[in-house]
Amino acid sequence: MKVKDGIIGLVVGDALGVPVEFTSRSELEENPVTRMEGNGMYGQPAGTWSDDTSMTLATMTSIINKKGIDYDDIMDEFLEWYINSKYTNSDDGRFDIGITTVNALNNYRNGAPALESGCNGERENGNGSLMRILPLAYFRDIDYETIENVSGITHAHKRSKIACVLYVEIAKSMLENDDLTIEEHINLACDKIKEHYKGSEELKHFQKIFDNNLDDISGKGYVIYTFECVVHCLLTTDNYRDAVLKAVNIGHDTDTNAAICGGLAGIYYGFDSIPVDWTDQINRIDYLLSLCEEYEAFCDES
Ligand SMILES: [Mg+2]
Repeated sequence: MKVKDGIIGLVVGDALGVPVEFTSRSELEENPVTRMEGNGMYGQPAGTWSDDTSMTLATMTSIINKKGIDYDDIMDEFLEWYINSKYTNSDDGRFDIGITTVNALNNYRNGAPALESGCNGERENGNGSLMRILPLAYFRDIDYETIENVSGITHAHKRSKIACVLYVEIAKSMLENDDLTIEEHINLACDKIKEHYKGSEELKHFQKIFDNNLDDISGKGYVIYTFECVVHCLLTTDNYRDAVLKAVNIGHDTDTNAAICGGLAGIYYGFDSIPVDWTDQINRIDYLLSLCEEYEAFCDES
């Protein structure tokens, strides 16, 4: 069972970061997160997940229901979350959403097809598609165009799309080969991206990741900063717990950085590496585990 490694890894990272979202790095240096906490930014109980998890679960559910990728149906499930708080584990329902995602969902509600709903301005390169793209890594024969399109229903700029492709490639490498180091997985995926997008102006934005030149990172929610943060946290720790706590304590977009980091750390180190006292605090964990099982069964059959 590999789906729960990554997905629960993502959910736990998200929940760890929720209470301190938008907290600065210097504040967290003084008072770092070391465990699953409640209250904070949104006044939620410990173990509450946010949009990162909800949109990931919506994507998985749509894929199971439609037996494949149906862009409009994924958007319909996102709307179920946006409007009706489906896919949440908080009594308050949905309590956060990114601006680019809101704009794309409203475009869709106003009649645009899913593939024309996404925002493609250069300023619309937040991490909002990267945080929900992990389910695609479990598809055996996923192609780059499909990954780009699943990003593009909300985040349609090429930079966000390439970030999603790179993330899925790293995850796939980890899923397919147990014998490599994290650095080797990342390097292999980067080589594929450099080759596939050769000549694209966008590649220069990924250069610090390609070069592992990550001494100066930011926790802010720009897709490239997030990717740099995640790679930095993975390459400077040697277990799930330390990787996600490091991502949280870099500050700012704490939940999303830790969710994206946690997805890969979960796959690499395995579900059993995720502290039980953290998973025990996730309300609706049984629902998550059964969705992961259903999703795995679908991916195995297809
Ligand atoms: Mg969030």
